[in-house]
Amino acid sequence: MSALSPVITWTPPALRLVDESAFPARHVWCIGRNYAEHAREMGADPTRETPLFFTKPATALVQQETVDYPSETRELHHEIELVVFLREGGRDLSPAQAQVCVFGYAVGCDLTRRDVQARAKAEGKPWTMAKGFDQSAPIGTIVSATDWAPEPGMRIELSVNGVRRQQAILGEMIWPVPELIAQLSREVTLHPGDVIFTGTPAGVDALERGDRVEGRIDGLPELRFQIL
Ligand code: MN
Repeated sequence: MSALSPVITWTPPALRLVDESAFPARHVWCIGRNYAEHAREMGADPTRETPLFFTKPATALVQQETVDYPSETRELHHEIELVVFLREGGRDLSPAQAQVCVFGYAVGCDLTRRDVQARAKAEGKPWTMAKGFDQSAPIGTIVSATDWAPEPGMRIELSVNGVRRQQAILGEMIWPVPELIAQLSREVTLHPGDVIFTGTPAGVDALERGDRVEGRIDGLPELRFQIL
């Protein structure tokens, strides 16, 4: 074995904006069951739950044309989501304070090993390896919050090989973006560089090798990738 290097060389993932500048990502937070119909399709009751949060490592974020089919699963699911990027953080934020922390937005896909998640749920184990694997968070190009903001009537949808599978409007979110960030900040301290996946509508389903995925939210750059 070679001697241990005394120096660690690592830089945070730098995500691309429309103006070619970069967003240094620190950590990825995700909310589960933020659209009622999706909560029902996963067997949960959307009316009685406080937000369910989980995380992915920042290294799961990718902006590329292909995503490798992950190991250790036979059921890779797509979840189209609005993704929020923070330029400021804090603790116990009000919704108004949370809104000021937003740097920008993008279309993202919360890729999920659904079979691994189902086994974890059945055995009372954590979701970590169902959600936080390599390339599990493909995102589109980021748009500044000064140029785009979510509106309740905007459509969010995902197609696979040209066939639409998920469709909703952003107004169907149980916890809209400022409330969601405020809730999360009651559980953890948020920081500049944090990335938040805001939940998926109904229609999640399996992806196979070769599938072409297209995710859209009105007014944001489209997310496109192929599963290899
Ligand atoms: Mn999700």
